[in-house]
This record gives sequence, structure tokens and C-alpha cells, in this order.
Amino acid sequence: MLRAVVGINWGDEGKGKMVDMLSEISDIVVRYQGGNNAGHTVVNDMGKFILNLLPCGVFRKDVVNVMGNGMVVDIAHLVGEIGRLRERGVDITPKNLKISDRAVICMPYHVRTDILEEERLADKKYGSTRRGISPVYGDKYMKKGIRMGDLFEPDDVLKEKVSDLLEYKNLIFKGVYGAEPNTTDEIMDWLKKYGDEIKPYVCDVTEYLGNAAKSGKNIMFEAQLGALRDIDFGIYPYTSSSNVISAYAPIGAGIPGYKVDYTLGIMKAYSTCVGEGPFTCEMFGDEAEELRQAGQEYGAATGRPRRVGPFDVVASSYGVKVQGADELTLTKLDTISYMKKIPVCVAYDVDGERTTVFPTGGRLNRAKPVIEYLDGWRSDISKCRKASELPKEALDYVKFIEKAVGCKIKYVTVGPERDACIEM
Ligand code: GDP
Repeated sequence: MLRAVVGINWGDEGKGKMVDMLSEISDIVVRYQGGNNAGHTVVNDMGKFILNLLPCGVFRKDVVNVMGNGMVVDIAHLVGEIGRLRERGVDITPKNLKISDRAVICMPYHVRTDILEEERLADKKYGSTRRGISPVYGDKYMKKGIRMGDLFEPDDVLKEKVSDLLEYKNLIFKGVYGAEPNTTDEIMDWLKKYGDEIKPYVCDVTEYLGNAAKSGKNIMFEAQLGALRDIDFGIYPYTSSSNVISAYAPIGAGIPGYKVDYTLGIMKAYSTCVGEGPFTCEMFGDEAEELRQAGQEYGAATGRPRRVGPFDVVASSYGVKVQGADELTLTKLDTISYMKKIPVCVAYDVDGERTTVFPTGGRLNRAKPVIEYLDGWRSDISKCRKASELPKEALDYVKFIEKAVGCKIKYVTVGPERDACIEM
């Protein structure tokens, strides 16, 4: 069975926790897009971890973790991440971690370009995590990438490739940004130093996963970010640089001939958004600060305060649709326990017209939220483990959202811990 765990909103919905929990029923967990701009938080019996590149199945001994061809991998970061997990007793070997030879390497000059470009844009910046993700995806599609498989080329072949690429790259560094050029030796040293450590994990993932899928293994695809950050279907250009949606999972994983059998969409009980771009339901001032504090809404990868708002029916229904979600998880319901009246954005007002269809471009920029209020429950629900233990108002809130987005809410989570989950 091929399952996908994906984000319905702007990311940070709590996918990491759900992948960690559901990896129990998986033989293989695959990250299929993105890079170390992700920050998946997992809290389990080994402690609290933030994973940027590694799939969240790494904590289970019998689960194999795969980093697919759709990913962009900063190998220095990956070496660090593996090292930090090992120090805390998480065993990572070529047996339980496999990296696609087709994945593109995020190079130091991609990180530099990301920073230089955000600085050039100044107050018009995208709000990038500055980890090189957009430049490396740009290079991938311009066919100027270095892939994991290239690490196995003889030194002189790889060196010639790097030198050819830098000839072009340095024109941009000097001409556009007035910045120092990159040297071939520096880049080769970096590739050698980190590449040698990563090479044992690199293999033909398409072959491996294809055989696994054929023999009926349970494969779980783990997404980064949410539907509204998808490069095609999100709030372009304030999106990520990859396809985050479920339909792309088999492609980014390495088995494009297969289809996802089941998609679990992860959706937060309220809204958060890191970085720039239209965020129609945004709250401001004290009201926003109270929610930010209650949910500890600071970016896992960057520490940036997240923008917050009420649950957005328009954006979330759209997210459910483009993800093709079969069922949903509503996360962090405990966070809004303090609210007397719970605001919900039920529609948008665009140029004086009420709509529940998620708009694009200028219409999205001009959209204003239409808010309705539901009763709060004002009691601690973090210890609840059964639907029957939830207060009536909490159940009503879940039912209201389920109906509004038109998809079954299968799980509700009430805390960061692995077991803080209610099956509805
Ligand atoms: P991801 O990128 O989608 O995995 O989400 P993040 O890890 O960026 O953000 C989710 C945050 O919420 C993490 O700090 C989780 O530990 C935490 N979290 C997940 N589920 C719950 C929940 O039900 N309640 C609370 N209070 N925190 C949760």
C-alpha cells in the first residue's frame, strides 16, 4: 500500500509527528521533495528532534528511509544531521537510509545566491529560508545541477563539470551581485569532504522502491510544506520551489509508474504561515501574539515568528482538493483551548463579492476574510485520548470544520507527544 502524509495549509501543520506515528505501519518512509528548508519536529520516547532532510521514519529500527530524486540535498547539512542523531542514539546506516542517485546536490554557491538575492530584493524579498533551495531547483531545471550520482565520477570528470558550471555561475556572482567568485578547488574540496561520507547511502532508489512496491511493501511518502506552497498550485511566487502535492509523491520518490493509494492530509486547527505572501486570514496585534504564544509558533528550521490566523475554510478546502486527500488529521486542537469564541474564516470577500473558491494573483491579494465565531471549550484537552473525552464544543468545532472542507477528519491531535492523538 502506498500512503502519503501531506500538508493541507502553508506548512508546519505537524506532519512530522504524524509520519513518526504512522511509520509504525510502514516498511519504508520516503521524502520526495524539498531540502533542508524543512523542519519536521518529532517528539517520541527518545526525545525531541527536528529533522531537516532525513525522513521521519529514522526512529524506528525496522523502517527503511529513502530520500528521493525530487529532493535537493545539501550534503554538508546532511552529514551534520546524521551526526547529531547518531550522538543521540539513532542508528543510521546504508541499510536504513537510501539516497537517490538522481537527487540534486544543493551546493554552497546555491546558499550564497539565495542570501545575495534576498538581500538584493530587500523589502520585496520572498521570505526564503536562505538555504539555497530556490537557486538549486532553478539550476536543476536549467540542467546545471550536480546530482548524487556524479559523486561517483572520476575526480577529473567531476572537476571539469564543476569548472564548466562555475564559469557560468561566477558571471552572475560578479555581474549581478558584485560578489566574490567561487573557485573550483573550494567546491571540489567541499564535494570530496562531504560526498565521501554520503556516498555509501547513494543508490538506484527507483530499482529499490520499484521492487518494494511490487512485493506489496507499505510505503509512506512524507511531504514537506503544504498545498499552498506548491510551486504550481500554491500562492506563487511565495511558494516553495518544488511540487509538494501528493500526486507528485511517486515521481519525486522515484517510482513514477505507481499511484498513491491513500492520502492523509494534515491540517492545523488554526492557520500559520512563515515568510511573505498573501495570508488572507492573518490576525495582528495582541490577538495574534496570544495565539502565537499558545501554539509556540516559531519556525522549526529558522526560528522566525510565524504569522497566525484563524482556521481558513477557503484555503483549506482548496488544499484538500489539490492534495486529493482521502482523510484528514486536525492538529494542535489543544492550542486554541484558551479561546472563549473561536474565529473561523468561512469565506473571502473579493472586490465586494463573497466567495469560497480560493482565488489567485491580484484577486487573492485583495481578498478580505469573512469571519464567523464558534463557541470555545476553555478547558485542558491535552490529556484526552478518546473522542468521547473531548468537550462538546471541541467536538462541534471538529464537526464544523469537517463539513466545511468536505473531508473526513480521522485523527485529532492534542499535544506534540506521539500518543497525543485521538482517532475519531
Ligand atoms: P511539520 O513541518 O508539518 O512537521 O510541522 P512543524 O514541526 O514545523 O510544526 C509543528 C509543531 O507543532 C511541532 O513543534 C510539533 O511538536 C507540534 N505539534 C504537533 N502536533 C501538536 C499538537 O497536537 N499539539 C501541540 N501543542 N503541538 C503539536
